[in-house]
Amino acid sequence: MKRIFFVLSIAISACAFSSCFTNPITGRKTVNAVSEDEMRTMASAEYKKFLAANPPVNGTPESEMVKKVGNKLATATQQYLTSIGKANLIQGYQWEFNLVNSKEVNAWCMPGGKVVVYSGILPQTQDETGLAVVLGHEIAHAVARHSNERFTDQYITQFGTQVLSSVVKTNSDAVNNIFDYAVGISGTGLLLKFSRNQESEADEMGLYLMAMAGYNPEQAIPFWQRMGSQGAKVWELASSHPSDETRIKNIQKFLPKAKQYYKPQ
Ligand SMILES: [Zn+2]
Repeated sequence: MKRIFFVLSIAISACAFSSCFTNPITGRKTVNAVSEDEMRTMASAEYKKFLAANPPVNGTPESEMVKKVGNKLATATQQYLTSIGKANLIQGYQWEFNLVNSKEVNAWCMPGGKVVVYSGILPQTQDETGLAVVLGHEIAHAVARHSNERFTDQYITQFGTQVLSSVVKTNSDAVNNIFDYAVGISGTGLLLKFSRNQESEADEMGLYLMAMAGYNPEQAIPFWQRMGSQGAKVWELASSHPSDETRIKNIQKFLPKAKQYYKPQ
């Protein structure tokens, strides 16, 4: 599929231009080669294709729970970013939370707030709070612009600091392939694989976001213990996520801060 990259301004070589992104929650700095507008547009098209091939479940208690928990997290994210003057970071987001029938233990969130939860993860999440651990983590990947970062890393590997607009003219297929690598989906599976740093950052942010949405962040620990004990490592973070032990240690480190955000409902 041909894609057209409308916004082509990039400053890949240094973090001193508008393409530099500072995570508003963790402070981590990254470089984004493509505008978020462009990422959202492309992700939205991928999301539509995915749902056409994998019709979402509607009108069941499970699908309603996915929408309820997802929307609570989205609202909390919006309110928090607004409170720190960073609402522009999710400007243009049109959140969608869909459940699909699949044995896969999986969930993901594309740029722009396009979320899918696979029914195979529900036995692990068990309840709303468990689902909030997963959705907080996935929403964090999007808010932290991890797909854009992956796109940028791969682009630099292949094309160095060549300006994106000229590469698109001569080698658009390669650029499209990089997009598929960063955001694309195939069949029922997500091709995207985040780095370990990104996974850790998503764990940290996800913990804060679930707390802001009124879910007890302490429940993240039994969730990850369940995932670990059942060897359930099939979802998006399968390849590069920290070991279960490291992940739980990290979560324990961030729990005191998460609890400050927690407002029981
Ligand atoms: Zn992840």
